[in-house]
Amino acid sequence: MIRHPEAHDLPVLVDSCVPVLDAVADLFIGSSCVGCGVASWQLCRRCRLLVATARFHRLLPSGLEVIGVTEYEGSGGAMLRALKDRGAWSVAAFCAVGLADAVAHLPAADLLVPVPSQPAAIRRRGFDHGLALARSTGRRSRLPARHLLRRVRVQADQAGLALEERATNQQRALAALRAGSSRVVLIDDICTTGATLMEAERALAASGWQVQGAVVVANTTRLTDLSSHR
Ligand SMILES: [Zn+2]
Repeated sequence: MIRHPEAHDLPVLVDSCVPVLDAVADLFIGSSCVGCGVASWQLCRRCRLLVATARFHRLLPSGLEVIGVTEYEGSGGAMLRALKDRGAWSVAAFCAVGLADAVAHLPAADLLVPVPSQPAAIRRRGFDHGLALARSTGRRSRLPARHLLRRVRVQADQAGLALEERATNQQRALAALRAGSSRVVLIDDICTTGATLMEAERALAASGWQVQGAVVVANTTRLTDLSSHR
């Protein structure tokens, strides 16, 4: 029986075809890697490896443990901008490889919970990249991905705020959609000050959920190397 490929098969499929695809892209399309710009189809081998393993550990002031895959500076940030702003869907499947590795470094969980984007940003992009990352990671980690959080007020864009303003901007910004007691891992694209993740942790814990930690694709600050943490 022929089994049609699914999104989580993408890294495997691309891996086997990548030399040919790269050559074709370079010759006929002029395609370039969305992470670093070299001639490649979607992501070059170097950038795929960059998001294939969890590398960083961080403990937020609330005690929330964050495991990160790569740094935002350079290719990591470029990949996420391609996913969010240009709809480069395959990036979510590639990042899910490293995110699933990150999930495996945390205490066992029952659910993956994406940090919700601003509704206006989802409408502008036409898709929910956070949910795409959570679902791709969930397929690899064998965990369901569920939206359990909602934004309760419109906030200023975190990117334009100073560090202390970010924490204030996030206060009481999220609420749980329902009460529960399952073990959850938060999932987000970027961790800067950690204010958003701590607000998500607060909102879920207030409704009974057990937050085991958080995984992110990219960290914007220099973090402890995961190998030295363990
Ligand atoms: Zn690249």
